[in-house]
Amino acid sequence: MSMTLLAIWITALLTTILLTLWIDWKTRLLGLFVLFGSLTYLAAKAEHYRRQLTSLHRLQNAYDQLDRQAKLIIRTDIELHRTQEELDRRLSSLLSLHQLGRQLRVSLRPEEIFSKLDAATVTNFGFSKSLLGLCPSLNDLEWCTCLGVTPETSANIRTYLIEKHLLKNILTNPAPTFLDISSTTHPLQRQLLELLGVPTAVIAGVVPHAGPLGCLLLGRTHRGLIQPRADEELVAILTNQLAIAVENSALYEETWLSQRKLEHKVQERTHELAAANTALVRLNKAKSDFVSAVSHELRTPLAAIKGYASLLNSGQYGALAKPQQERLAKIEKHADLLTKLINNLLDIARIESGRITMQRQWIPVEEFLTTIHEVIQPQLEAKHLHYDTDIDGITQILGDSQQLQRVFVNLLSNAIKYTPERGHIRMRWQRDLEQKCLRAAITDTGCGIPPEDLPKLFQEFYRANDPVNQQIRGTGLGLVLAKRIIEAHNGQIGVESHPGKGSTFLVTLPME
Ligand code: ADP
Repeated sequence: MSMTLLAIWITALLTTILLTLWIDWKTRLLGLFVLFGSLTYLAAKAEHYRRQLTSLHRLQNAYDQLDRQAKLIIRTDIELHRTQEELDRRLSSLLSLHQLGRQLRVSLRPEEIFSKLDAATVTNFGFSKSLLGLCPSLNDLEWCTCLGVTPETSANIRTYLIEKHLLKNILTNPAPTFLDISSTTHPLQRQLLELLGVPTAVIAGVVPHAGPLGCLLLGRTHRGLIQPRADEELVAILTNQLAIAVENSALYEETWLSQRKLEHKVQERTHELAAANTALVRLNKAKSDFVSAVSHELRTPLAAIKGYASLLNSGQYGALAKPQQERLAKIEKHADLLTKLINNLLDIARIESGRITMQRQWIPVEEFLTTIHEVIQPQLEAKHLHYDTDIDGITQILGDSQQLQRVFVNLLSNAIKYTPERGHIRMRWQRDLEQKCLRAAITDTGCGIPPEDLPKLFQEFYRANDPVNQQIRGTGLGLVLAKRIIEAHNGQIGVESHPGKGSTFLVTLPME
C-alpha cells in the first residue's frame, strides 16, 4: 500500500515537473491541481497513520495493565488457594476434634481415653507423628499412643523428657508450645525435635483439675505452611478435651460406684425389711392366736367367778354382812371390767386375723344415731352434759351397723368420761363428694390430750399419763378396737386435741 502511494506521489511529482517544463499554462494548472490533490491525500493518509499509532500505544498500555492485573489475580488466587487449604485443614482438624470428643465422652478410664487418639485424627490435625502418655507423677511417663514413631524412638523420647526435666516443665506449664528447628535456639528443644525426626512439633501437658495427668507431643515431617498459633490453639483444645473426658470419667465412675453401693444397700435393706415383715406377720399372728387362746381360756373361769359372786350376793347361801356384800359387788364389777377387756382383746385379735369380716350395708342414719343415743343417755345425764348431733342432710351410711355402733359408742363414752360436768359433746357428720366418703367428728370440751401422747393413742393398753386420766377407769383398748373396725371398713380414724380445751376424734368412711 505505501509503495503504491510512493509511486503515485513520484509519478505526480514527475508529471508536474514535466508539465512545468513543456506544457502550456492550462495543462500546468491541471498538473498543479493533481499535485495538490496528491499532497492532500498524502496528508490525510499521514494523519490516519498517526491516529493508528496513538491507538496502538493505547492498546499497548491497556495490554500492559491487563497483564499486570492478570498477574495480580493469579497471585491473589494462589493466596486464596493457600488460605482455603489452611481453612480446610483447620476445618478437618475441628471435625476430627468433634468426633474425638464424642468418642471420649463414652470412654470410662484414662487409658481408654488416651488410646482414642488414632492415626486418622492425627493426620486430620495436619501432623504425622504423635506421642500421648499418662504421667503417674511429675517424673514418670507411660506412652498410651505412639503413632508414626518406632518403639525405640518413643522410649528414647520418654527417657529424654524425664532426664532433662522437660516433662516436669510441661506438666507444671501445660500450655502448648510450638517448636521449630529453624527458629528455636533452645538446645533441649532442638534435640527433642531431632529425636522425633521432625522440623516442627507441638508439646503440651494434659492437666485436669485434679492435677497433672499426661503429656502430648505432635510432630510434622513436612514444614508446609507454618501456623504456630493455629497449631497451639488446636492442641490446647485437644488437651482440654482429654482433661475434661478424664474428669467426666472420674465423676461417672464415682456416681456409678455410689449408685451401685446405694442399690446394694437398698437391696440389703429390702431383704432385711421383707424378712422383718415376714417375722412381724408371723409374730402378729402368734400374738393374735395367743391373745385369742388366753382370752378364751380366761372367759370361762371369769364367768364362773362372776356367777358365784352374784350367787353369793343373792343370799341363796345365807345372809351376808354389809361389808361382805360390798366386797362381792366389787368382785362383780371387776369381773365385768375384765370380761369387757377380754372381749375387746378377742375382737381385736379376730379382726386382725380376718376371722371377723365387716357386713357392709346401708344403715339409716337417724335410726343408727338413736340407738347410740339410747346407750349413752344414762352417762350423759349423770354428768349433765349437752349433747347434739348434726347430720348435714345425710340419710344413710355404708357399713357394719353393729361394729360401727361399737366405734361411736366408744368414742362418745370416752368424750363423756373425759369431759367435766355440764360440758358439751357434739357429733357432726359431713359428706365429701370429691373423695366419695363421709366424715364424722366427735368433739368434746374435756381435758384434752397432751401432744406427746397423740401418736401413741391408738396403741394397745395406752392411757394418757395425766392426773385426770388416772382417776378414770379404762382398759386402753377401746380406741385400738375402734381403729381396727374403721380400717376394716377401709376408713380412717384420727384425733385433734388441745389440752385443757377438748378433743375431736375424726372418722372417715368410704361410701362405695
Ligand atoms: P380407755 O378405756 O382408757 O378410755 P381408750 O382406748 O378408749 O381406752 O382410750 C385410750 C386413752 O386415750 C385414754 O386412756 C385417754 O387417755 C385418751 N382419750 C381417749 N378419748 C379421750 C377424750 N375424748 N379426751 C381425752 N382423752 C381421751
